[in-house]
Amino acid sequence: MNNMNKIEVLHTLKQLGIRPNKNLGQNFLIDKNTVSKIILESKIKNEQSILEIGPGLGALTEDLVKYSNQIYAYEIDSGLFFYLSNKFSNYENLKLYNEDILKAKIPSHDIIISNIPYSITGPIFEKVFYNPHPPRGALVIENSIAERLFIRNNYKSFSRITVTFNAFMIPVRKFKISRFNFFPTPKIELSLVIVEPRKAIDELLLSDDGRSFFLKFVAGIMPYKNKNMANAINYFLKKDKNFNYSRQHIENFLHENQIKNDKLARFSVDEIIELSKKFFAFLNK
Ligand code: SAH
Repeated sequence: MNNMNKIEVLHTLKQLGIRPNKNLGQNFLIDKNTVSKIILESKIKNEQSILEIGPGLGALTEDLVKYSNQIYAYEIDSGLFFYLSNKFSNYENLKLYNEDILKAKIPSHDIIISNIPYSITGPIFEKVFYNPHPPRGALVIENSIAERLFIRNNYKSFSRITVTFNAFMIPVRKFKISRFNFFPTPKIELSLVIVEPRKAIDELLLSDDGRSFFLKFVAGIMPYKNKNMANAINYFLKKDKNFNYSRQHIENFLHENQIKNDKLARFSVDEIIELSKKFFAFLNK
């Protein structure tokens, strides 16, 4: 670890009178090599616009302003926002917003670069990636979540986020990052993941209705991944008062569509998307 950076970070925080806020996932990068790695792996071209979520003290921003003509950075913490506004006042290619990323109307962008506030990883993914035209990304996230993004024929890691994420995105590379490269030191292990949009996103996911059904459906069935598909769908439907289908209806649906009533965890991501599409049509009949 480069201690000089840690001293700088501590000094700046003290000057600003800021105590890192755990609820806001404030773990600041204190290692220049890690910053370089993130920038290198994100392969930015000048003309590509960047969304940075949670610039903090600007560890990544300092490099981003050198490599991109247009950066949008959203920082929810007003103290940090004023510090950043001052620090980067000479950079016209950086637009800072003192807003909650989850509530913001974000301008279109090519790449997302972020040391993600860990507690809102899921909602951030939903907001920025689960749409018809997702950007690329270089993201520092919790290692256990990173593991679940990659499809490995591993029952344990196959989960809700595996299915939803891979419906829109392709996880490309992953690098472990020591938690000691952040201040305060987080309790969890971290990874840098490089992600790209899928070339073809299923038509179901291009419409607002289809997409929100898919997200709800996957959230509803994945807790039952060790059950067979008919049972998993049955559990999902039981939780929603709008539906009134018996198990027999579900089995008929599977049969009519020639879908095997296999254990849910044996289905591939694309098979689950296909099934969702057919089931969405079935429910709207
Ligand atoms: N990028 C910096 C800071 C990472 S810590 C670095 O790597 O050093 C995460 C940052 O996200 C913090 O600055 C925190 O204030 C900010 N943040 C947390 N929740 C946010 C939200 N909902 N919208 C925007 N920023 C948020």
